[in-house]
Parts: sequence; C-alpha cells; structure tokens
Amino acid sequence: MVMKLHEYQAKQVFADAGIPTPASQLASDVDGVVAAADEVGYPVAIKAQVQVGGRGKAGGIKLVDDEDEAREAADEILGMDLKGYHVGSVLVEEAVDFVNELYVGITMDRGEGKPVAMVSTKGGVNIEEVAEEDPDAIAREHIDPSFGMHPYQARKAVYDAGVDQAVARDVSSVLMTLYELWDDRDGSDAEINPLMVTADDEVIAADAVMNIDEDALFRQPELAEMEAEAASTGDDLEQKADEYGFDYVRLEGNTGIIGNGAGLVMTTLDLVDYYGGEPANFLDVGGGAKADRIANALDMVFSDDNVDSVVFNIFGGITRGDEVAKGINEALEQFDEIPKPVVVRLAGTNWEEGMEILNEDLVTVEQTLEDAVQRAVEYAGEVNE
Ligand code: GDP
Ligand code: MN
Repeated sequence: MVMKLHEYQAKQVFADAGIPTPASQLASDVDGVVAAADEVGYPVAIKAQVQVGGRGKAGGIKLVDDEDEAREAADEILGMDLKGYHVGSVLVEEAVDFVNELYVGITMDRGEGKPVAMVSTKGGVNIEEVAEEDPDAIAREHIDPSFGMHPYQARKAVYDAGVDQAVARDVSSVLMTLYELWDDRDGSDAEINPLMVTADDEVIAADAVMNIDEDALFRQPELAEMEAEAASTGDDLEQKADEYGFDYVRLEGNTGIIGNGAGLVMTTLDLVDYYGGEPANFLDVGGGAKADRIANALDMVFSDDNVDSVVFNIFGGITRGDEVAKGINEALEQFDEIPKPVVVRLAGTNWEEGMEILNEDLVTVEQTLEDAVQRAVEYAGEVNE
C-alpha cells in the first residue's frame, strides 16, 4: 500500500529539497481563503486538497482575481464532493503565468524492476492518457538504484523529450532532485504535473504528487507526521469522528453503515458490496453504545453528503438493544423530515424489546442482516435514480 501526501505536503517536501514552488497557504474556511489570498497576492489559484488526480477537470481548482471571486470559489470548492472525497481544505496559491506545461516524474517500472525517470512536453493533462495515445511523447530513462541517477541521464531524458533548450538545465536539475527524493523518502511515485515554464524561462512546480511506500513509514517520521496531520485537518467528518471517539473511515459509495464492533461493521460492508451497493463509510460505535453515541453516529452519516441511506447493524452484548432503539428514536424524532432513510437490524441482548421500541414511522426494521442490507442498498439506489 502507498501513503499519498496532499499536494500542499508534497510541495513542502519538494520546496525543502530546492525545487521551485509557488508561494501558497492552506485554508479551511472562506475567511481563511481570503486572508491567505491577501497574503499571497492576487491572482491566486484555489485548489482542493484531496489525494486524487484530475481535480482541475472535476471543478476542484479555480483561478480568481479578487476577493469576491475568491469568496465565491472558496464557497464552492470547500465542502464539495470531489470524486468521492470530501474537500476539507484548499491550497491558496500564487497563480503562475505560464507558456508551457511539462511533466516530470519518477516511478517504479515493475516490468524492468528498476525506477524510471519520465519527461514530457505534454504536461498539464492526464499523463496516463498521453502514455496510451502518444507513448513517444514521454521520454524514459531507467535508473540503476545502486548508482543513483547520473546527471547525463537527466539531461538525456530532457533532451529526448524535446524540452526547450533555454530551460533544459533547470528541468534536468528538478529531475535529479526528484529522483533523490524518491530514493531517500521511500517513494513509490514522485511527480510534477505540470512543471510550468514561464515567459522568462523559469520552471516552477505547479502541482506535486508524492506517494510513499507505507511499509517504509516507520523510517520516515516526518512523512508519517504529515499523514497524521492530513487525517486530522483534511476532513471535517474525520475531525468529528475524533471528537465523538469513533473509528471512522470514509469510502467512496453511498450506503452509510453503522455498527458496533469492527468485525460486524466489516461484515456489513462486505454484504453491502455483495448486494450490489457501495459502502459510504466504516463507522464503529464501539461497545456499550448509549443513546447519545447512537445520536452522534447518526449525526455523522447524515452530515456526509455522499450518504443516501443508512443501515444500522447492532449486535447486543454489553450494548443493549433497547438502549440502541431508544437512541435511534430520540435522534430521529428531532427531525421534521428524516434526511436519509434508515434501516435497522438488532440482534443479541434485549433485541426483542429493542424491535418493539423502534418507531417504524421513522425507520425501517428488518429481522435479518441480509434483509436490512438489501433494503438499504435498494434505498441508496432509488435516491441515485
Ligand atoms: P490536477 O488537475 O489535480 O492535476 O491539478 P493541477 O494542479 O495539475 O492543475 C490542473 C491545471 O490547472 C493545470 O495544468 C493548469 O492548467 C491549471 N492551473 C493550476 N494552477 C495554476 C496556476 O497557478 N496558474 C494557471 N494559469 N493555471 C493553473
Ligand atoms: Mn496535476
């Protein structure tokens, strides 16, 4: 598995190693964006910080010239759902006035069992597409990891790609640094797309990707810390989960899942998948779930824009079915209209009392887990249509 740094983190790592990057600041609310833009100076690019490519095309990047535009763009991007990821923060960055967009990257060529440096003048677009449609547009140079990258190899890749003479030296030097980072930091991919070229022949990393081999994180304490930071600031929901003391993981689907005990939640997840649905999250409310914890769990899945239906799977041990049922009723009674359909399955301690207590005007009650999951998947599907 790989750990993906956010753009702002990868840029920090690149900048520390001497690669030119635009001035920028991170922000997580509209006023913060305006303050950051004042500091950086207009025009600025406002960029969603989610670990996924193609943000530009998906509406996650906006260039703005003044405060009004900045507010509007920040309001639009913050909190948006970008390819299944909730946008909790944006990078506010000095807009670069470029004449060319290049691609430079280092990755592992599994076929050759060696790292490969890649350079292309077709930067700024999805490089996988370039690789497919016009493979010759990407110059490649394999590197022997025991010797590292030689300067002549960097120059050759840059020359083969057809990079303008005036910037060839600087691009080679960026490529060398990128390889050193990849090597020192246990990278699986290190990539700059686009590496922008300005009218006065400066090169500047306008985007940054750094993926790290997860098994090596123990010897990369600085990067491990970045991962922890991203988890605590990147996502409102994860922050909420921290406050509530839940184990919570966001997934890409739209069927919300709440259960007690990691195994039980995993099983529910697998069943959602089995019945043709897509899990929106993993949420374990833990043992002895009292009414207020149940209400908090519902608050979490209801505030997740991706969730279209919710399945509750509770197996009572110390957690009593009647307590859970009361919690569900209390939480749902607060709404004039239930925001998303909720399906409940109770088993174990006091499950019968629980079933009786549940208000069927507010929730759908099912006897078996299979039925409950199928029902929730069905509801999620209906909302989608
Ligand atoms: P990605 O879509 O997630 O790869 O995000 P990028 O950071 O690569 O940005 C995508 C595209 O947005 C770039 O190729 C540029 O065309 C544009 N863009 C991003 N930042 C700037 C900037 O500072 N100035 C200008 N003019 N365009 C930018
Ligand atoms: Mn990019």
